[in-house]
Amino acid sequence: MIYKFSTLLLLCVTFFSSEINAQNNTIEYKTDQYWQQQADYTMAIDMDVNTYQFTGKQNIEYTNNSPDDLNRVYYHLFFNAFQPGSEMDARLQSIKDPDGRMVTNLGTKENPIYESRISKLKDDEIGFIKVSSFKLNGKKLNYEIEGTVMIVDLETPIKAGETVDFDMKFVGQVPEQIRRSGRNNKEGVALSMTQWYPKLAEYDTEGWHADPYIGREFYGVWGNFDVKITIDKDYIIGGTGNLQNADKIGYGYISEEKVKKKRGKTNTWHFVAPNVHDFTWAADKDYIHDTMQVPNGPMLHFLYKKDLPQENLENWKKMQPKTVELMQYFSEHIGKYPYDQYSVIQGGDGGMEYAMSTLITGKRSYGSLVGVTAHELAHTWFQFLLATNESKHEWMDEGFTSYISTLAMDEIMDYKKENPLSRSYAGYIRLANSGNEQPLTTHADRYAINSAYSASAYSKGAVFISQLGYIIGDENLKATIKKYYNDFVFKHPKPMDIVRTAERVSGLELDWYLIDFGQTTNTIDYAVKSVEDNKVTLERIGLMPMPIDLSVTYVDGSTEDFYIPLRMMRGTKQTSSTIKNDWAWAYPTYTFETSKAVQSVQIDPRGLMADVKPDNNVYSIAKED
Ligand SMILES: [Zn+2]
Repeated sequence: MIYKFSTLLLLCVTFFSSEINAQNNTIEYKTDQYWQQQADYTMAIDMDVNTYQFTGKQNIEYTNNSPDDLNRVYYHLFFNAFQPGSEMDARLQSIKDPDGRMVTNLGTKENPIYESRISKLKDDEIGFIKVSSFKLNGKKLNYEIEGTVMIVDLETPIKAGETVDFDMKFVGQVPEQIRRSGRNNKEGVALSMTQWYPKLAEYDTEGWHADPYIGREFYGVWGNFDVKITIDKDYIIGGTGNLQNADKIGYGYISEEKVKKKRGKTNTWHFVAPNVHDFTWAADKDYIHDTMQVPNGPMLHFLYKKDLPQENLENWKKMQPKTVELMQYFSEHIGKYPYDQYSVIQGGDGGMEYAMSTLITGKRSYGSLVGVTAHELAHTWFQFLLATNESKHEWMDEGFTSYISTLAMDEIMDYKKENPLSRSYAGYIRLANSGNEQPLTTHADRYAINSAYSASAYSKGAVFISQLGYIIGDENLKATIKKYYNDFVFKHPKPMDIVRTAERVSGLELDWYLIDFGQTTNTIDYAVKSVEDNKVTLERIGLMPMPIDLSVTYVDGSTEDFYIPLRMMRGTKQTSSTIKNDWAWAYPTYTFETSKAVQSVQIDPRGLMADVKPDNNVYSIAKED
C-alpha cells in the first residue's frame, strides 16, 4: 500500500479548505482553465551492446503549471514490466486471448495452452531500470518502486508555478524482445529502445496518471529533449529528434565528404527534439539508411536491415515516395507536420508509433509495408500531436488514426472503395452483437478480452469519427478535424473537445452522441416498419438516437432521398435530400408521406450509420406478377 494515512488526511484537509474558500468566494483560479505541465529532459546514455545494459544520467527541469502544489511525483519505469511476476506477466497468464507475440503456445491451435514468455525470462534476459541516485534541486530524495512505477513523496511540495530540477542516475537492462521494446527482435534488429528511460508521469486537469505498464499505451508530459547516446561505433541509430552532430557520425545523416569521424571505439549521438512527450530510438549494425525530402515538409529517414530478402528490400525502396504522399495527405487533411524529420525504422514487433518516428517489422508485402507506415505515421497526429490519454481514451488514438489512415491509403494506393471504412463498421457491428462489448470509457487495460479492446479502440473509434460525418455532414467533418488540430495541437484533448469542436463547426447539438456512442453500449437499430402506398413508417428499436438518411424508390422507378432530422440536435446537416419533420427520440415510430407510391425504402444507403441490425433497414413491396 502506498497511500499512507497521513497523505489521505492531508488530501482531505486540502479538499475541505478549498470548499470553505469557495463559499467565501476566494477561489484563485478557474477549475475549468486549461493548463499543462512541462518536463524538459537532458539525458546522457552509455550503452553496452554486449551486455545489453546501459547507464544513464537524467535531468528533468519540471515546471508545475497546475494550480496545485504537488506533494508527490511519479515516474514510469516501463522496462520493469519484463520480469517474471510483473503485472504484465500476470495479465498474460490470466487473459483468455493473450497477445500471440508475448506467449508460447504449448498446445495446439484448437486447444491452445499459453505460456507467458515473460515468466521464462532469466536474470540476464529481463528488463529493468534501477535508480542509483535521485535528487530534487540537488537534495537527495527517497523513493519507492512498485513494479513499473516509482513513487516520490516530497518533503517540500512543488508549488504551483514553480520550476524544479530532478536529477537521476540509473542502470537499465534491455529485455529480450517481448512487446514493443527489446533486444534482438525476431528480424534480428539489435536494439528497439522504446519506453526505455525513467519517464515522469503526467499530471493534468484530471490528476495523476501513473498507470502501471500492463499492456497498453502511453501518456506523457510535453517538453524538450536533449539526448546523448554513446554506443559502439558500428551501430547506426534512428529515432526521435534531430541529430546535432551528423558531421561526426555520418551514416547517411550527412554527405560522406563532410564527415570528420572521431577516433575511439564509440560514437556519441546527440539528438535534440523540441516539444515532444516521448523519446525513442533503435540501433543496429546492419541498417541501410535512405532519406527523402518531403517538399515543404520534413526529411524522411528509412532505416532497414541489409539482410532482408531481396523482395522486401525492394518494397522498402518503393514505399519511400508513398511515405512522402502520406505525409502530404495528413498535413493537408489534419494539419501541417511541425517537426523537421520523421523516421521509419525496422524494429519492434509489428508497428508502433513514437515521436517523429515509428518502429515497424520489415518483412512485409508492399501493401502491408505502406499500410503499417500509413497507420503509424497517422498516429503522429492522433495521439502524438493531439496527445489524448491513450489509456483512458484509446478510441481517440487508434480509432481516429484508423479512420484517417484508411482514407489516406484509399487515395494514395488508388483503391477507390465505395466505403473505405466498411471493415471498421463491420468490426464494430460484430462486437456490438457479440455480447462482449464494453463502453469506450473502459480503461485500455481493463477490457475482459483483447479482441474486445481492438474492436472498440480501432473499429468503434474509427466509426465514431466517420459516423460523426454522417451526422454533421462530410464538409463539416473535414472542417472539424482541422479545427480540432488547430485548437488542440501540442495539448491533451479529451473526448468532449472533439465533440465541442464539431458543435462549434456545425452549430448542432451533439452531446447525446458522445454520451450514447462514447460512454455506453447503447446501439443503433432503426427499421422500416411498413410501407403503404405513399406512407412510410420507420421504427426505432435500439436505444441510441440518430438522424436518418433514407432513399426511396417509387413504383414508377424514380428515386428520392430524404433526411429526417433528430430533434435533440436542434438543426439539420447540409443536404440535398428532401428534409422532413424532425423525429423526437422518445417516439418509437415515425411516419411520413411521399408524393408518389413507394416501391422500396432503404435507410442509410451509404452505410455510414452503424446500425447493428442492417437487415431491417430495407423494405420492398412485393411486385405483382
Ligand atoms: Zn495504432
